[in-house]
Amino acid sequence: MEGGEARGVELSGGMRLEASRFVASAIDFPQTVRLAGEEHFGPTLSQAARDFKWASHSLATLHLALEEPPRYASTAFEPDVDRAYNLVYGADDTAQVRECFEDVKRGELPRLIGNGACNTLFDPTYAPAGKHAAFWWPFAPYAFKEGGADAWDERRDEYAEKVLDAWRPYAPNLTQENVLGKYLFTPLDIERRSATMVRGSHHVGAYLPEQLGINRPHPDVSDYRTPIGGLYLCGASSHVGGAVTGGPGYNAANAIADDLKIEKYWTPVRPPGE
Ligand SMILES: Cc1cc2nc3c(=O)[nH]c(=O)nc-3n(C[C@H](O)[C@H](O)[C@H](O)COP(=O)(O)OP(=O)(O)OC[C@H]3O[C@@H](n4cnc5c(N)ncnc54)[C@H](O)[C@@H]3O)c2cc1C
Repeated sequence: MEGGEARGVELSGGMRLEASRFVASAIDFPQTVRLAGEEHFGPTLSQAARDFKWASHSLATLHLALEEPPRYASTAFEPDVDRAYNLVYGADDTAQVRECFEDVKRGELPRLIGNGACNTLFDPTYAPAGKHAAFWWPFAPYAFKEGGADAWDERRDEYAEKVLDAWRPYAPNLTQENVLGKYLFTPLDIERRSATMVRGSHHVGAYLPEQLGINRPHPDVSDYRTPIGGLYLCGASSHVGGAVTGGPGYNAANAIADDLKIEKYWTPVRPPGE
C-alpha cells in the first residue's frame, strides 16, 4: 500500500511483486481483507469478512481408472446415456435430495447423490491410450459428527467402496476387472488443495441469500472494487459466485478497464434488459 493505493503483492518468502496500475485479487474476500489489512476496509467490511459463511456441504469425488467406459443399465430405455457427458445419479425426487442434505447437516455419510462423467469419451488424453477415466462427485459433509474433518483420511477407503457400490447398479460393468485404480478426493483434500475453499467450500463461500447477487460478498464491494484504490476482487467469493464460468473475473476485468480507461479487446456482454 502507498497513499491508500494498492501497489503490489508480497510473497511469503519476502519477494515483492510491484503493480504499476492495479492488483487483482483472485483469492477470497475474507483472505483479501486479512492480507491487505482490516484497517483499510473499515469496521463494517472487516466484520463482514469475519462473518463470511463457508459452505454447509462439500463434495467427495471418486476418480476411477478404467479398462472400458461405464456402460449404463438405463441404455435399455435411453441409448444416448452412454454418450452423455454429464450424468446425475441417486435422486429420483425432492424427498431424496432433502434426505441427503439432512444427513450432510448431521455430519453423517449421506444418501449418495451427485453428478459425474467419463472424461475420456470426450478427451482421450485424460488416460493412457485405450484406457478410460471417470468420476462421480456425491455431496458430502466437510466434517463428520464423530471425528470431525480429520476422519476423512481414515474413512477414505471405506467411502470409496461405498461410492463404487452405489455406482455399480447404474453401471454394472464397473467390475473389479474393469476398475484398474480408484482414488477418493475428499472435502478435506479440497480445502488442503485450495486455500479459498475453506471447509471444502467448492463454490468459495456458501450460496445463501445474504451472499448472492449484490450481497456477494457484501453490498459495499459487490462491484469488484474495494475501498483500497487499485485493488479489485476477481474470485468466486464475488458475484457470479463459484463456478468455472469465470464470471467474477470477467466482471472484474470490465470494472478495471472502465476505471483505468483501458480499451476492451473483448465484446462486453450486454447487461440484462438492454
Ligand atoms: C470437486 C469440485 C467440483 C467442482 N465442480 C464444478 C462444476 O462442475 N462446475 C462448476 O462450475 N464449478 C465447479 N466447481 C467449483 C469451481 O471449481 C470453483 O468455483 C472455481 O474454481 C473458483 O474459482 P476461483 O478462481 O475463484 O478460485 P480457485 O479455483 O480456488 O483459485 C484460487 C487460487 O488461489 C490460490 N490461493 C488462495 N490463497 C492464496 C494465497 N494466500 N497465496 C497464494 N495463492 C493463494 C489457491 O490455492 C487457488 O489456486 C467444483 C469445485 C470442486 C472442488
